[in-house]
Amino acid sequence: MPQRTCTGCRRVDEQAKLMRLVVDGNGRVRVDKLRMQPGRGAYVHLDRTCVEKMVRDGGLQRSFRKRTQPLEGGRLWAFLTEEEEGS
Ligand SMILES: [Zn+2]
Repeated sequence: MPQRTCTGCRRVDEQAKLMRLVVDGNGRVRVDKLRMQPGRGAYVHLDRTCVEKMVRDGGLQRSFRKRTQPLEGGRLWAFLTEEEEGS
């Protein structure tokens, strides 16, 4: 099982337990639900604490090595949980 580091809490976990995020050409963060998007991905637990920490600490920018559009933790969380529904 591949392992990845959570961008929020920095703990290593199985890739399957982490959400994959990618950033598009406009710097918008997207949830890569199927884990098929090309390019550099960032991984985060589906845990609000991890998501908030990732946003606050700028972990996403570090993971992507480029700027992303301004992002608010609560909004990303809503996006992540919304994406989870129906899966
Ligand atoms: Zn985490």
